[in-house]
Amino acid sequence: MALAELGKCDWCGIGLESGEGWRLVKPARNMGAAFCRLEHVAPWLTEKNDWHILDQVEVPPSADPFCAVTGNELDEAAMYLIRRHGDVEVVDGFSGPEETLKWARAGGRYAP
Ligand SMILES: [Zn+2]
Repeated sequence: MALAELGKCDWCGIGLESGEGWRLVKPARNMGAAFCRLEHVAPWLTEKNDWHILDQVEVPPSADPFCAVTGNELDEAAMYLIRRHGDVEVVDGFSGPEETLKWARAGGRYAP
């Protein structure tokens, strides 16, 4: 299965159109998950954490090579959270699940 085929939120199960929602990927292990909203990432990571194994997950081309939380250079363990809104793709990278959790709980990129 490809990342784009993840058709529902892995936390609440609501259906997702291909051009909407959030995707969390771990390219080094070809793993991914999908979410309807950012608020569903943290509870999923802490309580379910049941990733989909996908055919091939690439590091998103527009991804920054540094962790959005710590500023450290990303390595093999990196995870990326991808927000799709129509044709626009916004990507944030994280050193690991702790950083991802921290960022998601704080409200993400546009946190006050
Ligand atoms: Zn959801």
